[in-house]
Amino acid sequence: MKIGYIGLGNMGSAIALNLVKAGHEVASWNRSPGKDEALVAAGARRAASPRDAAAGAELVMTMLADDRAVEAVTFGEDGILAAAGDAIHVSMSTIGVACAERLTEAHGPGRFVSAPVFGRPEAAAAAKLFVVAAGTAEALERCQPAFAAIGQRSFAIGGHPPQANLVKLCGNFMILSAIEAMAEAMALAARGGVEKAKLLEVLTGTLFSAPIYQTYGAILVEERFRPAGFAAPLGLKDMNLADAAATASRTPMPLLGLLRDHLRAAIADEGEDVDWSALAIAAGIKRGAISGPGGM
Ligand code: NAP
Repeated sequence: MKIGYIGLGNMGSAIALNLVKAGHEVASWNRSPGKDEALVAAGARRAASPRDAAAGAELVMTMLADDRAVEAVTFGEDGILAAAGDAIHVSMSTIGVACAERLTEAHGPGRFVSAPVFGRPEAAAAAKLFVVAAGTAEALERCQPAFAAIGQRSFAIGGHPPQANLVKLCGNFMILSAIEAMAEAMALAARGGVEKAKLLEVLTGTLFSAPIYQTYGAILVEERFRPAGFAAPLGLKDMNLADAAATASRTPMPLLGLLRDHLRAAIADEGEDVDWSALAIAAGIKRGAISGPGGM
């Protein structure tokens, strides 16, 4: 397929490379220069603007930081909407429900698909993402070859694109909830002299075998909060988006407030470059670890 591709950050550069490897004809653009060398070497064309990347493409895929970035490359002077042709805009970024509503309306029926993904940059590089997509049935059908090149499975959520963003925000809320719960449990166990690794071995070997406990459990055991696979400010952005959706639908989410505060504390104490799992520090994981045997 002819694919315009916009956004070569941690996730985007790995995804774009997999599209090229799968034989798609990719024209890519990134705001800052110098991030597309590997992609161009693999066969992609360097586009001059988002508009140029989208021109004549069947799909134009965006993987950008946030609402503001997606709106800038869509509505800007040389943006996607200014391009000739009938490309479907496939937005993979984790953006807000209201932003997805604006994009759906601006592109018109069938021309916008929300397709946020689950999986960290390593999963993106291994083409093992889970793609959560919503849009018209025809538009989703047209996206299938691209989804197959970047992920292990795609889910069709419904006909209205913002529904996919809602699923993604719910998922990220649950990931952080799991990290918070593990961090509190590890702190408690450590104060009683039980090693974090031992607690994790028992829990993931019995009742908590889900990948999220295994992946993040290992990060908490090793206190491996740098380099960030998913930076804490992006996690905070997602919790704010979940909060906006909850406010709009009058959904009480008391746990969400606690997660946001712990993320804010992690960023304030540790800096902008820590992984979002560093919320475990605010949840007491380090304090727990130093107390050692007999500390209870
Ligand atoms: P990232 O490495 O920070 O990359 C962000 C990208 O957005 C860069 O290409 C950046 O361009 C671009 N960008 C930012 N502001 C822009 C603007 N105003 N105009 C144009 N481009 C702009 O982020 P990431 O980790 O790849 O994440 C991308 C998206 O995927 C986010 O929505 C994130 O929530 C979501 N996500 C991330 C993960 C993960 O584990 N990392 C997992 C699932 C989903 P420059 O190069 O010019 O800065």
